[in-house]
Amino acid sequence: MTEEKTAQMALEQLATRDGLTGLANRRCFDDTLRAEWARALRQRQPLSLLMVDVDNFKAYNDAHGHLGGDECLKRITAAVASEMRANDLVARYGGEEFAVLIADADAAVARRIAEKCIGAVGALGLPHAVSPSAPQVSISIGVARLAGSRDASPEGQIALADEAMYRAKRGGRNRL
Ligand code: GH3
Ligand code: MG
Ligand code: MG
Repeated sequence: MTEEKTAQMALEQLATRDGLTGLANRRCFDDTLRAEWARALRQRQPLSLLMVDVDNFKAYNDAHGHLGGDECLKRITAAVASEMRANDLVARYGGEEFAVLIADADAAVARRIAEKCIGAVGALGLPHAVSPSAPQVSISIGVARLAGSRDASPEGQIALADEAMYRAKRGGRNRL
């Protein structure tokens, strides 16, 4: 590989990847969502979106330090990514929030995958010294199926998944 080619690949990596977790970054997620949304409509295929948020993560940082928090985020994202198939996209949406795009998955399939992600993070058994809800690190997930309706929008579905995620928080966290 030429030096130029190596440098170009490094730049592409910088533009689309999140530095801490190695996941797709927000920009890559936004672009992919728009493209997948259009494709799902055109081909009348389902498309599901998960919004994942780490529970009580502010308290985790306070108790385990910011570097401990960073390490925790890496472990969580590896666990979540391990539940995905090759065509799914796991992205860092912001802070301790992750978005997952699952192509060709209806709501039932997406729910099953989300439950597996929650289980995989629980199976890490990462102690959370001061969590108000559980002694271990956990995540909450909201799911929204991108329906084939032309008046809906990718942004609207993000908002729906977000709402579902906040319902999971209100319901006690560590849940879908
Ligand atoms: P909830 O269960 O309601 O989600 O509570 P929470 O404490 O997780 O929610 P909140 O949004 O108050 O806190 C998110 C925390 O995530 C605060 C911020 O410092 C931390 N955080 C965001 N990005 C990073 C990061 O890259 N590294 C570390 N260590 N912490 C981060
Ligand atoms: Mg959050
Ligand atoms: Mg949180």
